[in-house]
Amino acid sequence: MTGICALCHHEAPLRHSHIIPELIYKPMYDDKHRFMQMGSIKPGIKYHQKGLREHLLCQPCETHLSISENYVSEFLGSMGGYEVERKEQLSLLAGLDYKHIRIFFLSVLWRMSVSSLPMFKNVSLGVHEEVMRQMLAADDPGLPQDYGFLAVIPYIDGEFCKDWLLQPDWIRFQNRRLYRAVIGGILYLFVASRRPPVMPHPSVFIQRSGEWIIQHQDVRQIPHLKQWLDEASLLNR
Ligand SMILES: [Zn+2]
Repeated sequence: MTGICALCHHEAPLRHSHIIPELIYKPMYDDKHRFMQMGSIKPGIKYHQKGLREHLLCQPCETHLSISENYVSEFLGSMGGYEVERKEQLSLLAGLDYKHIRIFFLSVLWRMSVSSLPMFKNVSLGVHEEVMRQMLAADDPGLPQDYGFLAVIPYIDGEFCKDWLLQPDWIRFQNRRLYRAVIGGILYLFVASRRPPVMPHPSVFIQRSGEWIIQHQDVRQIPHLKQWLDEASLLNR
């Protein structure tokens, strides 16, 4: 299928691109090669035979983004090649590749915004979509607070649920939009603004030095996830 590539804007054969790259789904496939998707509006469990895809990018752009994807795949999969220090509810990561992590997660947010799939209908970046497209096309990771994003690992009754995918939504946060998505069991919070919000510590956004603080929280401390799980009757009483 030929069309206009969403990233480089050239006319080219379009790949059946993943909105959320396969590498994040991989650990989520069960033995029947399905992953669990839980909708945030009407609770219920649906199965998809494949990841959510759309004709979106040309092959050179797929290849361009795959460099950061490969890095993040190893980061999420092996948890090696960098340092982790655990301090109570926090993991202090060091030695990460700032550029690859920034490009990867910004590309996921941007793809969700560009996508016409119903799953991502709540993600609409407006003027930021074009700014982010130019950053991605130029391989420019920007500053830590440019569209900064946080990662929180929720535990459900003490367990990390790596097969959890929750439809993205957004809330107002310090007069900015904050997009929320659970992907592969990890809650990602994206600030859709280049004006830095007030954060408890700068390193909740990955820093150029390669430091990134990831929080661990019982899901009962995360109101919107607790509410969703309560409605789906998935929490132990
Ligand atoms: Zn392209």
